[in-house]
Parts: sequence; C-alpha cells; structure tokens
Amino acid sequence: MRNRQATRLIFELAKPGRRANLLPKCDVPATEASEIYGAAARKNRLNLPELAEGDVVRHFTNLSTLNMSVDTHFYPLGSCTMKYNPKRNERLASLPGIVDLHPHLPSDSVQGMLELLWRLQCYLADIAGLPAVSLQPAAGAHGELTALMVARAYFRDLGQMERTQVLVPDSAHGTNPASAAMVGYQTTTIRSCADGSVDLDDLRSKINSRTAVFMITNPSTLGLFEAKIREIAELVHAAGGLIYLDGANMNAILGITRPGDFGADMMHFNPHKTFSGPHGGGGPGAGPICVREFLEPYLPIPRVVKRDGRFDLQFDAPKSIGRVRSFFGNVGVLVRAYCYILANGREGLKAVSQHAVLNANYLLARLQRSLPVVNERRCMHEFVASASKLKKERGITALDIAKRLLDYGFHAPTVYFPLTVPEAIMIEPTETESKETLDAFVEAVEQIIGESAQQLHDSPNSTPISRPDEVTAARKPIMIWKPAS
Ligand SMILES: *Cc1c(COP(=O)(O)O)cnc(C)c1O
Repeated sequence: MRNRQATRLIFELAKPGRRANLLPKCDVPATEASEIYGAAARKNRLNLPELAEGDVVRHFTNLSTLNMSVDTHFYPLGSCTMKYNPKRNERLASLPGIVDLHPHLPSDSVQGMLELLWRLQCYLADIAGLPAVSLQPAAGAHGELTALMVARAYFRDLGQMERTQVLVPDSAHGTNPASAAMVGYQTTTIRSCADGSVDLDDLRSKINSRTAVFMITNPSTLGLFEAKIREIAELVHAAGGLIYLDGANMNAILGITRPGDFGADMMHFNPHKTFSGPHGGGGPGAGPICVREFLEPYLPIPRVVKRDGRFDLQFDAPKSIGRVRSFFGNVGVLVRAYCYILANGREGLKAVSQHAVLNANYLLARLQRSLPVVNERRCMHEFVASASKLKKERGITALDIAKRLLDYGFHAPTVYFPLTVPEAIMIEPTETESKETLDAFVEAVEQIIGESAQQLHDSPNSTPISRPDEVTAARKPIMIWKPAS
C-alpha cells in the first residue's frame, strides 16, 4: 500500500512554530538587518512552511518512492534504453577533481578533463566507424540538429543550396522531421514495406537533386535491422546526398557492426541511453555526433584536440558552424559514458549488445503467444507488439495494458509509437535483466489480458493518481500551489 501522506504537499503538512533545526544562541551582537540592506530588507516574514525535521525527511522519502525508476522496477521503455545505471559511474563522475572544475579554467589546469573528453571522442569514433567527433550537443535531438547544420554548411560550401530535402522513413522518431524543420529543410516521408524495412521503390521515386540527407534509424524503431542499408546508402550517395544515422538504437550493435561501415556519413549517440547515463524525467542527456573526415571542418567549436602531447580546445575553424552549446557539452553525462565504455571494454560492449538482443528475443518469443507482435521474425534489442486485435474483440487498448502494468509493479513500455503500428506496445528489456524478471513480466501481461475490460479501464489503482487528463495536464499544467481558503 502506497503512503497516501506522500501525495500531500509540504505546505499542507506545515504547522506554524514547528522547527527542523536547533541553532545555538547567537553569541555576537545582532545587527539590524535594515542597517545592512536598508530599503532592500524584507519587511514581512517570509511565509515558508514550518515543519519538524522528521516530518520533512518522511515526506520527501515517501515522495521519492512514488516514482518508478530503473533502480526500483523493470523499465522496458522501448526506444529509450532505460538500462541499469552502474553506481560506479555516479561515484566517479562526482569525484572532486571532476565536479569542482570551473569551465573557465585555462586548458593548462584542466589537462585531465580534456584528456578524458579527447579519449571519449576516440572511443566514440571507433564505435561509430566515423573519425571526427563533437561532444557538444546536449541530447540526441540536438545531435540531429547539429549534424543537419553541418550538412547544410557542407552543401553551402559545394554551392548546392538547392539541397533542402530530408528523407525520413515513416517509422522514424518525431525528432527527425522536427530537426529537419528547424534547419529550414523540408521532410519527405518514405514508406515502409509490410516487413518493416524501407520501401526501396518509394525511396527511388523520391530521391532527387534536392535531396540533402536521408535520416535513418538502424536498427529501426520496430527493432529490426535494415538489411538493405548498403543499397540505401549507395542510392543516396549516388544522388549526392548524405546518410544520417539516428544512433538511439546503438545498444543492439555495439562492437558488432559500425554505422560508418554500413554507409552512414553522420550519426549521433545517446550516451544517456546506450552508455548508461541516468535519464529519467527527460534529462540530462548528451548527443555527441560523429562524422566522416570531409565533414570535420564544419563541426561545432570548440573541439577538444591533442597537439604536441598536450590537450587543448581548438577555436580556429573557419568553416565551423560555431557553438551549439555553452562550454564543452554536458560533461557530467559524458564522464559517465566514458566510465561505462572503459569498464566494459571492447569485448564487454559487444556482450552488452548480444545480451540486449538475446533478452529481447526471449521476451518476443514468450509474449507473442498472448500478444501479437508486428514482426515475428527475430528482433534486435526491442520489438513492437500490438493490442489492435484485443481492442477490436474486447475493447482493451495498449493504454489499458500499460496502465495496469503499473499495478503489477512494472514500468509501462512505450505505447502508440512507432506511429505506423496501431495500438503499438514497444518493449525494450535491456541487457541486464534476469530471466526471472522477464518471466514475471510475461506472466503479468498474460494475467492482465485475462482481466475484464472494465477492470483495466479503471486501472491503475495502486498509484496516488489513476488516470489524469493527460492532454489538459500537459497543456495547462498547474505549477503553483494555492491555499484552499
Ligand atoms: C530518444 C530518441 C531520440 C532523441 O534523443 P534525445 O536524447 O531524447 O533527444 C531520437 N531518435 C530515437 C529513435 C530515439 O529513441
């Protein structure tokens, strides 16, 4: 039973006169505040909630347990790679020599940090198979935007300003067309075949001399590896365009295949997904990009470089698109990624992907007995099931199953994405989950499907709030507490 007290606001628990601290008596003459601040001094008491220490601790501790997290629950959120965040990373990233650095310190006094970032660039380049790296973008979506700006600068340099068309498969993440729109490009959607792969005929008919970039997610958001990726890259390259790889699904292919080897010219990583950075609540993230040599001159500045055995920030890059973020990027997230890569090593990263794919295929094989999956052939690190048949026959939707899973102690999978699948339920178990956890999840789904539609519509019923009006909650959020009277 969840503690309902935790759902009350701290203001409502307060009682005037309660105290959370015991300060010794003041042993120096009290100075009149007005002497110091004059007109700026506060005239009225600040109306802060007053509580005893125990009440404050209990309130926030209980509040913290209302959320589901990777540390408390299985969290199979497709496309988001909510993997276990090793505690070692947290300890290392909070070492004083790392957290206490000021970004304005001169390069000479931050050689260690610059070396760490430079080494991370080398690792990312190696994993991507693309030699030039910028660590600056602050999220995957920001990496997409940055890479498209790099592409635009490249085409401008070639005098090909007419290239403003971005091709995006219909299963793409919404950030892909959004990033294209933000650089002023137009998006053309490419159809998928019934098996989830890119429809090559549709692609051929839409590529032209205005094509700038084909943005592809591989493995795709359906959890399928695009087997014709080489052919696709050849088509796009023959038309003078570039291939952008949305690297959100790198968890399936680390150390197994490299985007640079299968035709990508640019890509982003999501270190907060693939390299275990914690990313609940939308951040913080990072979105380093890797590009081919001929695109390197356009990367954002400053770049972390090694010159004569010394590490430095390079600002002199006349063709650079300039800064896309303050300082060097989200360093805290990058440090965690560095620790994760080092801790796993070359063989370890490959094992990460192998286990991620194995876990997903195990879940797919068990779940498809109760829930139809879009593609019954083997998946990569995630797969998409559909509640479409259940909806038609019994009025049970993907949302019902997702909400009811909360009562069973599981974070819901991603639902209603990708958009090409009606009543989509997108499941990504990640590599660290045990067989027991996966089995328990399957059994929960089976039980849920056995329940009545009404029971499911009324769920969840173990959470403080059951089904908020999500549209109103997002459009008109109430962010300020007001006393009832
Ligand atoms: C998460 C994701 C993105 C966006 O990455 P952010 O780091 O959240 O900005 C883009 N594409 C796909 C397929 C994703 O899963």
